Amino acid sequence: MPGFEVFGDHERAQVNEVLETGVLMRYGFEGMRQGRFKALEFEKSFAQKMGVAHCQLVSSGTSALSVALAVAGVGAGDEVIVPTFTFVASFESILMLGAIPVLVDIDATLTLDPKAVSDAITPKTKCVMPVHMCGSMADLDALKAICDAHDLILLEDACQAIGGTYRGKALGSYGDLGCFSFDFVKTITCGEGGAVITNNKTFALHADQFQDHGHDHVGSDRGAETHPYLGYNFRISELNAAVGCAQLERMNDILAQQQKHYQFLRSAIKDIEGVTFRHVPEGGVENYSFLNIFLPTAALAEQVHAAMTQSGIDACFYWFKNNWHYISGWPHLTQAKSLYPMMPIVQERLNKLATQDFSRSDHYMGRNVSFLIKLGWDEETLKHRAALMTRVLEQILSN
Ligand SMILES: *Cc1c(COP(=O)(O)O)cnc(C)c1O
Repeated sequence: MPGFEVFGDHERAQVNEVLETGVLMRYGFEGMRQGRFKALEFEKSFAQKMGVAHCQLVSSGTSALSVALAVAGVGAGDEVIVPTFTFVASFESILMLGAIPVLVDIDATLTLDPKAVSDAITPKTKCVMPVHMCGSMADLDALKAICDAHDLILLEDACQAIGGTYRGKALGSYGDLGCFSFDFVKTITCGEGGAVITNNKTFALHADQFQDHGHDHVGSDRGAETHPYLGYNFRISELNAAVGCAQLERMNDILAQQQKHYQFLRSAIKDIEGVTFRHVPEGGVENYSFLNIFLPTAALAEQVHAAMTQSGIDACFYWFKNNWHYISGWPHLTQAKSLYPMMPIVQERLNKLATQDFSRSDHYMGRNVSFLIKLGWDEETLKHRAALMTRVLEQILSN
C-alpha cells in the first residue's frame, strides 16, 4: 500500500515549485503565486482519474469523511451505519457531527454485510458507510439497493482501496460520495491529506465551502467573501497538495506493482488445504494493497500469525486481536471516553456497543490473517517471502 516507498525527485520538484513562490495556501495571493495552484491541479486530475465530476481535497481522510457527512446533511442524533472492522476515523467523523455510529457485522468480504445493514435501519438512519478495508469492496449493488429503498446516502470510505473498481467504476465513485486518505501510509500520499469525490453538484459546492470556514469563494477578495453556511478549517496546504500531484502520476505504476506482488504470493499459497481467500463481490477488482486469507479456525489463524511474524514475515496482521481496527480494540469508544461532554443519547448508544453481539464478525475476523503488499520487494525477496509463507502455512495446517 505505501506510496512513501517511492518518494523521490518528482515529489521534491513539485514541492520546490511551491517553495519558490512561498505561497503555501491554496487560495488567494494571485500576484505572488505565478499561476501555481497545486491543490486545484490535484483535484482536476484526481476527479478525471476517478471518473467523477467533482473532487474536494482536504487535510486528511478523517476530515474528508466529516465533510462528506456534513454535506449529506448528517447531524445531531442521525444514525450512520458502519462496519465493525474499520479504522477509527469512521466513528470519529460521525461523532464530530453529533451523529451516532451504528456498528454492524461484516461478512466474508471483510466489509459491511448487507443483511446486517438492513436489520440495523431505523427511522433515524441517514447514511450507510461501507469501508473498503484492505483493498477490496463491499457488495455495493446490494447496499445501493438498500439505500435506494430507504432513501439513504451511500458514502464509500475508499481510503484503503484507491484504484480498485466495482462494475467498471472506481471505488469511491459508486455511491453518492466517496472518501480517500493520502496520509503517509496510504497507496499514494500527500504527507497528510484526503479527498471527497462526488457527481452531485450541490454536495461539491457545499464541500468547497464547509472545508474553508464557509467561504463562498466568489470574487477575488477573500476578506469580502460571504459565508452561506458555518464551516471548519479542513484545508490542505499547497505543500501537501504538491506531494500529491507527484504521487498521483505514479499511481498506475504503484497499482501495477502491487498487483504483481499480490498475485505472486497468492498463487504460491492458493492450493494449500485450509487456506481460503477473502470474498470479492462479483464485478469487483481489488487494488491489491493487502492479501487477506482465512484459516479454518481462529486458533489456527492466531498460530499462523505468530509463526509468520516469528519467521521474519513483516507487515502481517491479525486484526482480530493485535490491532486497532476492530470493535474489540476500542474500549475508548464503548466507554465513550470523551474529553468534553457528549449528548446523552450518543453516550448511551456507545455504551451499548460493549455488550452487543458481534459473533458473526468474530467468525470472520478471528479466522483472518492479512498481509500488506509492499512495492520495494525485488524478485528474490518476493520468492523468499512466498517460500516462507508456504512453509509456515503447510506446517501449521498439516498438524
Ligand atoms: C487512513 C484511513 C482513514 C483516515 O485517514 P487519515 O488521512 O489518516 O485521517 C479513514 N478510513 C480508513 C479506512 C483509513 O484506512
